[in-house]
Amino acid sequence: MESQELYCKKCNSCGFLTLSANYKCPECSQFNWIDKKIKGEGSIYSYSKINVGFGRMANKTPYYLAMIQLDEGLNLLAYIDFSFKENIQINSKVKFHQRTEDNYLSFKVLE
Ligand SMILES: [Zn+2]
Repeated sequence: MESQELYCKKCNSCGFLTLSANYKCPECSQFNWIDKKIKGEGSIYSYSKINVGFGRMANKTPYYLAMIQLDEGLNLLAYIDFSFKENIQINSKVKFHQRTEDNYLSFKVLE
């Protein structure tokens, strides 16, 4: 499956990057966001394996939730798609794959 593109919000006043820009920039207090396309590559900082899910994720177990540090400096919590590779570890290289139908950010582990 083709990977989708990942965008973040960039403060057009000071350059601060974020994935959720609902308020003023925490660095310069301006409300001047622009969309910025990013590579969506990074590494796993920490993770948990989920064996028993609930709600919309119940039928997707087992899966990983991982704290990911993107090369652009952003940190985020994401779903790791098992269909690419089942074993992950701290510092595994990952790449953004897609937004799931539930609006989770899904990443795949690179070899
Ligand atoms: Zn700013």
